Amino acid sequence: MNVNASAIVIGGGIIGSSIAYELAKSGMKVTLLDKGAVGQEASTAAAGMLGAQVETHHPGAFYELCTKSQELYRPWSEELFAYTGISPQYIDEGILRVALTEEDEAELRGRLPWIRHAQWVSPEEIRRREPQLTEAVRGGLWFDRDHQVHPIHLMLALRASLVKRGVTIREWTPVFRLLQSQGRITGVQTSEGPLYADHVVLAAGAWSPALTEAFGMQLPMFPVQGQCLSIRTEAPMLTSTAFTKGCYIVPKQDGSCIVGATQVEAGFDKRSTAEAVARLQDKAVQLVPKLKEAEFLRTWTGLRPGSRDGLPFLGTWDQLPGLVFATGHYRNGILLAPVTAVLIRELLTGGSTSLNLAPFSPERAAEAAKARAT
Ligand SMILES: Cc1cc2nc3c(=O)[nH]c(=O)nc-3n(C[C@H](O)[C@H](O)[C@H](O)COP(=O)(O)OP(=O)(O)OC[C@H]3O[C@@H](n4cnc5c(N)ncnc54)[C@H](O)[C@@H]3O)c2cc1C
Repeated sequence: MNVNASAIVIGGGIIGSSIAYELAKSGMKVTLLDKGAVGQEASTAAAGMLGAQVETHHPGAFYELCTKSQELYRPWSEELFAYTGISPQYIDEGILRVALTEEDEAELRGRLPWIRHAQWVSPEEIRRREPQLTEAVRGGLWFDRDHQVHPIHLMLALRASLVKRGVTIREWTPVFRLLQSQGRITGVQTSEGPLYADHVVLAAGAWSPALTEAFGMQLPMFPVQGQCLSIRTEAPMLTSTAFTKGCYIVPKQDGSCIVGATQVEAGFDKRSTAEAVARLQDKAVQLVPKLKEAEFLRTWTGLRPGSRDGLPFLGTWDQLPGLVFATGHYRNGILLAPVTAVLIRELLTGGSTSLNLAPFSPERAAEAAKARAT
């Protein structure tokens, strides 16, 4: 174990920042690089749901990864708050996933045999809990462990923690390429010149594939545009997050609600469109009719780091020693930040990890490329 080692983390989103924090805590000398300002991409565009149950559709390694991270969240948020005085606004209020169609009801009921923390609720019970929800609800699942944070406040707390932990943060410093020496990744070429370290962590979100291409690795990742809007009502309409197919409404501590989100593969286009705003608003009003009276606050767009199989890339690739992958967290990067940080720290300081990383191995990118070629 070499905790005196140094690490460069490429990308100051939630994933890179939480890894940098965890590595610095273990005694490493860490430099965090971002092409812009820390936290300005997908990580502050997110709604902040910690949806280990609501977001998983079948059992397996991804569900285990999500639930592990969910367990870590409360103590992690409390630690960041105690360390910086900035609250990530962790709210433990659960998520109500409602069905409005027969097909959706069947899909939700199909999760009951394997999902660990869910309870079926009748339409009457739903309307008793949330009287403003539409009368069209057919029932749903109550996920009492799926909570939320406010991503903007979380990123502020993380950034302050990095400064306090002595992480060197270099914003507006894009990494142009990875540097290799004797078959090992030893550093990065930045707009400010070369930088070297014992480990280089790739956490560049949707932009990650651009840095591995030169080494013949086509990471099967792509940006998935997500547009959201926020609104405010005079009186609160919901006591917890309400989620249905294609739309969620997340009530925040300041009295606003985030309504999300579109999901479109449109390259790196981050424009917000009137059509998407109208569609989101329609869906929100279908779910909570009184929202038609809400005050419109703002709209924004972020680029999720999507992967073809929906799983993140965590760990190393034999062909590129020295490089550690922590990317492709798609719809769940806020949820998965603490577990990702712990796993990468374990990998860099001890060698073995508390969860099996095989299902998330970057090797599968090479295998996918081989399969495409044959
Ligand atoms: C609308 C929307 C709603 C979402 N809601 C949720 C939710 O409720 N719950 C949840 O868990 N997840 C949610 N997500 C997903 C979550 O936001 C992402 O999975 C997560 O933010 C990914 O974090 P990241 O750090 O990998 O990427 P990013 O936040 O995109 O960070 C990557 C960073 O790398 C930097 N970078 C890129 N290339 C370079 C380079 N060459 N050199 C230097 N820096 C570079 C970028 O500038 C950026 O700051 C949502 C996403 C969107 C868009």
